[in-house]
Amino acid sequence: MSPVLTFTEAGLYCPAADLYIDPWRPVERAVITHGHADHARPGMTRYLATESAAPVLRHRLGEIALETAKYGETLKIGDAKLSFHPAGHVPGSAQIRVEVAGEVWVVSGDYKLEPDPISELFEPVPCHAFITECTFGLPVFHWPDPGQVMAEINAWWAANRAAGRFTLMGAYSLGKAQRLLAGLDPGIGPILTHGAVEATNAVLRGQGITLPGTIQVTPETDPKAHPGAFILAPPSALGSSWANRFKPAASGFASGWMALRGIRRRRALDRGFVLSDHADWPGLNRAIKATGAERVFVTHGYTDVFRRWLEGEGYDAQVVTTEFGDEAG
Ligand SMILES: [Zn+2]
Ligand SMILES: [Zn+2]
Repeated sequence: MSPVLTFTEAGLYCPAADLYIDPWRPVERAVITHGHADHARPGMTRYLATESAAPVLRHRLGEIALETAKYGETLKIGDAKLSFHPAGHVPGSAQIRVEVAGEVWVVSGDYKLEPDPISELFEPVPCHAFITECTFGLPVFHWPDPGQVMAEINAWWAANRAAGRFTLMGAYSLGKAQRLLAGLDPGIGPILTHGAVEATNAVLRGQGITLPGTIQVTPETDPKAHPGAFILAPPSALGSSWANRFKPAASGFASGWMALRGIRRRRALDRGFVLSDHADWPGLNRAIKATGAERVFVTHGYTDVFRRWLEGEGYDAQVVTTEFGDEAG
């Protein structure tokens, strides 16, 4: 019997349904876990994704041939049954369950277990084989309570405002930026956004996700008109001339990578907040256990360490080389 999924040059392939999951080369039929650029790439003839991922995919990929499904809806494709299940990573993100002749494999995409105000809550899916990311697959990654982190961010903003400073925060424009927005206290002051963040805000607001009011920064924006503002920008904009108009400012970044002190120092940030849209070490282990899988394939992240750990825990564990990155830590 051929395996449910095989690992090819173009991506994860399901022979029974003749489709690829998050392929990195152009293929006929692509099933997409979520809208981050390393998972949803241009050039596919046809796309399939969740209904709630669709607006972001259209925003990022333009006019594509896109079919959608609801979470939990079973699609019969060729000799396979395929369904999407919430991954808790960003709005619309999904794990993909594929069943062929009673054998069930699940592709995690990127995932996290903690609830957040904007993403559908992660759901464990029982399976025989689980293909998991392990972006943060080292024991040093152990996330603090996200509510506590948001309280610290709000307190930092209030203190900066009281001291006559702007607060400049870097965050990925899909997911992390809106998660931050949803947790900010708009009573503290105005919230300004970079155009890349605001474009995604507009897409998510359009599908019914509630975010506080924001003001997009344009060339005409006068910083003096928004004293003490919280300014949300993609990481690449921090330290650029775009950001330099807001002075004086305290700068920060919110990411799982902020758990590593060296990274924070190299980026010359005033503050690093540990807030991730990926599972931490305990989260990865809990998620894998909850699937009941005996076979685990690990993809992007600390794959070698994590594979050895899983093997020691009694799993049949293998590393799979993919072209997924860590766009949204
Ligand atoms: Zn992602
Ligand atoms: Zn990824």
